[in-house]
Amino acid sequence: MPEQTPDRIVTMEKIVNLCKRRGFVFQSSEIYGGLISCYDYGPLGSELKRNVKEAWWRDTVNSRADIVGLDCSILMHPKVWEASGHLSNFNDPMIDCKLCKGRFRADQLEHASCPKKPSKRPGQCDGELTDVRQFNLMFKTHMGPVEDSAAAVYLRPETAQGIFVNFINVVNSARMKPPFGIGQIGKSFRNEITPGNFLFRTREFEQMELEFFVKPGTDDAWYAYWQERRLQWYHSYGIEPSNLRLREHASDELAHYAKGCGDVEYNFPIGWQELEGIANRTDFDLKQHIEASGKDLSFYDDQAKERYVPYVIEPSAGADRATLAFLVDAYDEDGPEDDRRAVLRLHPSLAPIKVAVLPLMRKGGLPERAHEIVAMLGAHVAVDYDQAGSIGRRYRRQDEVGTPLGVTVDYQTLEDDTVTLRDRDTMEQQRVAIGALVDIVREKTAPPVPAAKLAPDA
Ligand code: ATP
Repeated sequence: MPEQTPDRIVTMEKIVNLCKRRGFVFQSSEIYGGLISCYDYGPLGSELKRNVKEAWWRDTVNSRADIVGLDCSILMHPKVWEASGHLSNFNDPMIDCKLCKGRFRADQLEHASCPKKPSKRPGQCDGELTDVRQFNLMFKTHMGPVEDSAAAVYLRPETAQGIFVNFINVVNSARMKPPFGIGQIGKSFRNEITPGNFLFRTREFEQMELEFFVKPGTDDAWYAYWQERRLQWYHSYGIEPSNLRLREHASDELAHYAKGCGDVEYNFPIGWQELEGIANRTDFDLKQHIEASGKDLSFYDDQAKERYVPYVIEPSAGADRATLAFLVDAYDEDGPEDDRRAVLRLHPSLAPIKVAVLPLMRKGGLPERAHEIVAMLGAHVAVDYDQAGSIGRRYRRQDEVGTPLGVTVDYQTLEDDTVTLRDRDTMEQQRVAIGALVDIVREKTAPPVPAAKLAPDA
């Protein structure tokens, strides 16, 4: 695993261990030795990732009248990938070592490590490196029962193309007109040459993509708008602003069709890396599909009496990379040397469990009362019940997985219907009435209000 940033408490190793130990993320097919670069989200991880996706959907789709959602199939007509350019261009340059059989991305040799130790970099094992070859990243499979005669189809390497090919369906059925957007969350697959760094680069992952269609000429303003809004989204869900930056691509880095591209980068323990790409894709995709399908995908503006092919601004984020970034950013340790606690300071609305209900003792009617409170709160938020071990240890277990609130049921509860409410971050406790709990918990774990600005300045 690459070097860690020296001055941070969090390391990739701590995150990987926590994820495994507490049921956030497991290696896929672990009992068979694991399938490299594929992961399963456990009980807590599946909640966390779902909350990340819901936060994106709420901000990007539900909170706005100018954006609608879509949920397309993973398998698409093979001509889609011909038209989009993925069949001919979705390649990474690959180099092999003839001795140790290592396989590397030619454009990332300085970050790659030789599998034959003690060599460090590719070629240091004295093996001969092959010339660079282009390797297509799409997974190919067959549709139909007989492999030989069946049509070759591909697992989609991005969700965006499903949006482009449905552009006219959405315009007609949802009566949308530019500027408007279509959002989608779903699985994508890339046969990466060098997957790694846990959830950061896998071969099966989820994307959260928005294609925002605008009139040509207004695209620069919308491009700047989406960059700002997407940065704000990460900030509003608690990412430390100094760990985020926007890196504008140099013109020689841009795809040939793109007018601009900026990556939102996060300061992972492995260094600054892309979290999300925001691109001005111009009218490239729609025009490619117009040409290949013969269908008219232009838009007629009946007020201005003009027809045009919209430009597209695309903020494209990874749900797994975002989940990893939220985990890394939230990880903290505090307290004296002999009584240290690990705590995930996740935004409460992202936390897998919102409130843990803990009876002080396992007797005297406390568990029964606690279960009643679990049922009451569970109708509104994700709850946990824990009666094992000392109350201090139970708080620690919840802190480590980011549970923002703890409710302790004690003997006083049976007398006056009050409980202790403990805050994960301050560790402060207050006495509150059970009747007020639902409102307090909902208010303290509510998501941030989406940014009010819905368009660039005129
Ligand atoms: P990279 O340069 O890291 O390979 P990319 O520029 O190819 O990424 P895009 O095609 O812009 O990535 O995809 C948009 C987003 O999808 C990325 O910012 C990332 O969050 C996510 N993503 C892309 N590839 C992977 C992967 N192999 N594993 C996990 N997430 C990914």
